[in-house]
Amino acid sequence: MTALPGLGAKRVRALHDELGVRDLTDLQRAATRQRIRELHGFGAKTEQRILEALRRRAQFERRHKISDVEDIADSYVAHLKAVQGVKEVIVAGSFRRRKETVGDLDILVTCKKGSPVMDRFVEYDEVSDVVSQGSTRSTVLLRSGLQVDLRVVAQISYGAALYYFTGSKAHNIAVRTLAVKKKLKINEYGVFKGKRRVAGKTEKDVFKAVGLRYIEPELRENRGEIEAAKKNRLPHLVSVSDIRGDLHTHTNATDGHHSLRQMAEAAKKLGYAYLAITEHSKRVVIAHGMDEKRLRKQLDAIDRLNQRLDGIRVLKGIEVDILEDGTLDMDNSVLKHLDLTVCALHSGFRLSRAKQTERVIRAMDNPYFNILAHPTGRLINQRSEYEIDIERVMEAALERGCYLELNAQPSRLDLDDVHCRMAKDMGLRLAISADAHAASNLEYVRFGVDQGRRGWLEPDDVLNTRPWRELAKLLARP
Ligand SMILES: [Zn+2]
Ligand SMILES: [Zn+2]
Repeated sequence: MTALPGLGAKRVRALHDELGVRDLTDLQRAATRQRIRELHGFGAKTEQRILEALRRRAQFERRHKISDVEDIADSYVAHLKAVQGVKEVIVAGSFRRRKETVGDLDILVTCKKGSPVMDRFVEYDEVSDVVSQGSTRSTVLLRSGLQVDLRVVAQISYGAALYYFTGSKAHNIAVRTLAVKKKLKINEYGVFKGKRRVAGKTEKDVFKAVGLRYIEPELRENRGEIEAAKKNRLPHLVSVSDIRGDLHTHTNATDGHHSLRQMAEAAKKLGYAYLAITEHSKRVVIAHGMDEKRLRKQLDAIDRLNQRLDGIRVLKGIEVDILEDGTLDMDNSVLKHLDLTVCALHSGFRLSRAKQTERVIRAMDNPYFNILAHPTGRLINQRSEYEIDIERVMEAALERGCYLELNAQPSRLDLDDVHCRMAKDMGLRLAISADAHAASNLEYVRFGVDQGRRGWLEPDDVLNTRPWRELAKLLARP
């Protein structure tokens, strides 16, 4: 219960002692009956917040973070690929569209006749329940609560099935309407003119048959991609190989796990040209945030390291807290020595929308403000975003020569796809940053790239696809 926002150990104990609340079901019952508001130190507002948190939790529990699903998908796919007679195995659905959360997993296979793939599918280690088993379709539930569907499709329909089961539903409906206008029928078996199959073996053929360029799965949300494909104006989406460096990372000088040197070497191994070290500032006490004196010491250490390192440049930065009054948690006399600042809210989440927006924009007035980190503060399945007018914040960033971050931690992915698209349409570049607290976390950037692709981002829309020389110019405030 302490995982719910606003419920500390003390309150949980009070709920238990006074109302006999032992679990979330009890909690739900007590809150609905308005028993909680009568308790000392709770009130109607708290009760309302508890109900809201429970509602959100129920809604979230149906969807799983893509990073978690990916581990399951990878090993399930490997398990199926090893089955005799199996040719192709691919995961379709929202997983393939790289949505930040996935409801269930849709796996497609093609195989030779007589392959025992369905038996092997339901025998997989993690299966807790076999919901159904047939010759072309089976469904299981995994211990993690994830539902997995397997469909065996004919090679001749592979492209059509992949297209159909990748979705999204809204996209598929729009394309079907388009097909009908051309007197074509499109379904999971192929594209048909009357009874004649005109396409279906590959996805490309399916698109071609309805007069469209190939549309990347991340774009298939019916948000203008069909129009763009018709006019040959689809974006050339950013990919991981375009990323030249990371602009938000931590070391063991604060709450990270690895040293400056280890982080730099890990970044170099990824082929990066630069890596910004951005420790927390003193306000974030739990993370052992830095004051001016400790930061100055780290800047000297970075100078020394840069002299010894070859092929990568360590940039001097900080993840500085935006205080409640919109000032930054570090003196400008130190900020002016940095290559960049990443500025963030880590407290004061309950301000009104107007006040929160104003607070961030006031912070941007500081000439050393560069990038707003994890701009909405949401944590997927745990915490919704704080009230803030992101569009207004983006406009303010554009006016001042500041930027926003797409934080690539799989539990953040903040900004989301819709906000990424908003930034792109406004001409505001974003930084896709891993916010790594360990060397291996640098690879999170690919989740950010996926999210960016869903937001139509092209390489030029992303700050850290630029070489350092160009990036330095972009960061310089006018
Ligand atoms: Zn942060
Ligand atoms: Zn951070």
